[in-house]
Amino acid sequence: MTYANLIAGAFVHGSDAVANVNPSDISDIIGQYDRASAAQVDDAIAAARAAAPAWARTTPQVRADMLDKIGSEILARRAELADLLAREEGKTLPEAAGEVGRAGQIFKFFAQETLRQQGERVASVRPGVEVEITREPMGVIGLITPWNFPIAIPAWKIAPALAYGNCVVMKPAELVPGSAWALADIIHRAGAPAGVFNLVMGRGSVVGEALVNDPRVDAISFTGSVPTGRGILEKAARRAAKVQLEMGGKNPLVVLADADIEVAVRCALDGSFFATGQRCTASSRLIVEQPVADRFVAALAEALKKQVVDDARKPGSTIGPVVDQSQLDQDMRYIDIGTQEGARLVVGGERLNRDKSGYYLSPALFADTRNDMRINREEIFGPVAAVIAVKNYDEALATANDTGFGLCSGIVTTSLKHAAHFRRNSESGMVMVNLPTAGVDYHVPFGGRKGSSYGPREQGRYAAEFYTQVKTAYVLAG
Ligand code: NDP
Repeated sequence: MTYANLIAGAFVHGSDAVANVNPSDISDIIGQYDRASAAQVDDAIAAARAAAPAWARTTPQVRADMLDKIGSEILARRAELADLLAREEGKTLPEAAGEVGRAGQIFKFFAQETLRQQGERVASVRPGVEVEITREPMGVIGLITPWNFPIAIPAWKIAPALAYGNCVVMKPAELVPGSAWALADIIHRAGAPAGVFNLVMGRGSVVGEALVNDPRVDAISFTGSVPTGRGILEKAARRAAKVQLEMGGKNPLVVLADADIEVAVRCALDGSFFATGQRCTASSRLIVEQPVADRFVAALAEALKKQVVDDARKPGSTIGPVVDQSQLDQDMRYIDIGTQEGARLVVGGERLNRDKSGYYLSPALFADTRNDMRINREEIFGPVAAVIAVKNYDEALATANDTGFGLCSGIVTTSLKHAAHFRRNSESGMVMVNLPTAGVDYHVPFGGRKGSSYGPREQGRYAAEFYTQVKTAYVLAG
C-alpha cells in the first residue's frame, strides 16, 4: 500500500515513494510512503496560511474537543499503533506501547491546556489607562521530527501547536513515516479543518529545507542531530523566524560510592541501553567513584549478558535492533574508535545474527575510559556506554559538566548532601536523582542547555513560550 501526504485536507500522492523497512527483519516492508515534491510543500504551506486566521479564532472548546478526540483514539488503538511503531523503529513492544500511551496523554493534556490560557491585567503607570497582556498564536508552524520517537515527538510538537491556535506543516523522519502517517490520519478524521494540519513526507534536504526557508512559516520546531539543527538555525535566522531546537546529548550518570549498586545498575541499564540506546536522554557516560567502579562494572556487565536482543515484536525481547544500516555502521565505528583509544570493551559490541535478518548489536560496555576520549565527547546514539572512574564527588561533578552538551544528567547516591549539590550544580536542563536519565513526564518542561537545545522549552505549559507570541494592549478607559 502507498501512503499519501495530507495537504489542504486531502491525501495527495507524491511523484515517488520510499519503502518503510522493518529493522528487525529487512525483508518486511511496512508500506510505501510518498515523498512530497517542493511544489506540494508549497501547497501545504499555502493551505496552512489560508486556514490560520479562522483556526486562531476558534474557541478553546473547539480545539479542546478535537485534541481530546485525537488522544482518545490514540489510546484506544494503543496496541495496534505500538505494533506499527515497534515494526518500523525497532523498539520493543512494551517500549512502543509506552510511547504510544505517552502520545495519547500529551493530546489529552493539551486539550485541557486550551481552557487554561490566561492573560494578565496590569495597572498602568498612566492615569485612566488599562494594560492587558495576552498570548496569540504564532500562525504557521513547521515541525521537523527525528526517527527515534516516531509518534511521541510529533505528538509533543503538534498538540501544543494546535492547542494554542496555530496551523501545522509537519515533516517526519523519512526512516519512520508510518506512525506519523497514522497520527495524521487520526487528526484528519478528528475533524481538523482543511489546512490546519498538513503532513509532508520525504527527505530533509528537500521537504525540511523548503519548510525552513519559506517566509510563510512563522516558526520551526526541530528535534534531531546537532549539525542539522545548527544548519536550520542559520537559515531561519536569515529570515528572523522563531526556532526551537532539541539536539543531542552526552548525558552523565554519576554513581557515588555510597550508592545502592542495584539501583545504579538498574538506572544504567535502562538509561544507557533500553530503546537500543537511541534516546537523546540516554546516559552514555557512567561516571563512577573508584571504590565501587569494579563492582558496578561487573554487575552491569552481568545484567547486560542477560538481555535478549532480538526482534522488537517478539515476546521476551528486551532490546530491539538498531534502526538502520547507517546507524549500525556509526555504532560499530565508535566501538572501534573506543578500542583504538585504549578503552576496555568489557562486554558486547558484536553484530548478532537472529532468525530474521536485522540490525542486531549486542549492548556494549566500555571501562577504563577517560572523559577526553571521542566515545565520551561525541554522541554515538546506540547501545554503547562508557565507564569513567573518578576519585571523588568533586571530580564526578566536574567530569559530568565537562561536555559540550547539557540535556540531562543523573546521580545515584544515598547522600542527601551530594544529591542536593548535584541537582543545583549540574549544567543540564534536566536532573535525575536515583532515576535513569531517560524517562520524563509529559506535563513538565523538556529541554537542555549548551549544545543540546536552543530556544524555549518543549512540553507542559512552558510550550506556550514557543507556540504563542505576547501582545500588550493599552486602552484609555476614560
Ligand atoms: P537528522 O538531524 O539528520 O534528522 C532529523 C530530522 O531533520 C529528519 O526529519 C531529517 O529528515 C531532517 N533533516 C535532515 N536534513 C535537513 C535539512 N537540511 N533541513 C531540514 N531538515 C532536515 O538526524 P538523523 O535522523 O539523520 O540522525 C542522525 C544522528 O542524529 C543520529 O545518529 C543521532 O546522533 C542524532 N539524533 C539525535 C536525536 C535527538 O533526539 N537528539 C534524534 C535523532 C537523531 P530525513 O527524514 O531526511 O532524515
